[in-house]
Amino acid sequence: MTKANKSINIFVDVDDTFVRSYGMKRIPITASINHLKNIKKEGAILYCWSTGGADYARQSAEEFGIANLFTAFLPKPQIMIDDQSIQNWKKLIQVHPLSCSNKTLENYQSELAACRRIPLKSLFCITVMIIVKAIIINELVD
Ligand SMILES: [Mg+2]
Repeated sequence: MTKANKSINIFVDVDDTFVRSYGMKRIPITASINHLKNIKKEGAILYCWSTGGADYARQSAEEFGIANLFTAFLPKPQIMIDDQSIQNWKKLIQVHPLSCSNKTLENYQSELAACRRIPLKSLFCITVMIIVKAIIINELVD
């Protein structure tokens, strides 16, 4: 496996991600389902999780014939025991299902590579420096 197609662990929600419910009717979100099929083909490792629990996640995936795409089914975490806060995870991005249909696994890899290259603290300092410089230059011109 080359670096270009290095695999990524992707956690996929159920409700309003690949299925939408109207009363008792459950409607597949085909753009999301096709996207999941595409990135699976490209080598993504997919996990399906739901606030409704692991069984609900599995049943929902089976309902739309996509259970085979997933490595495992999980409940969404409620408590995480971890020495790092999620905000400090270096390689984590959240993608809304409405904005993912045109993305490839390579797109995600690029986004992860760019992820947090500049810490937010540094970004803030750089922004302040630019503003201060602009003010100084503005005063010199006047
Ligand atoms: Mg949801």
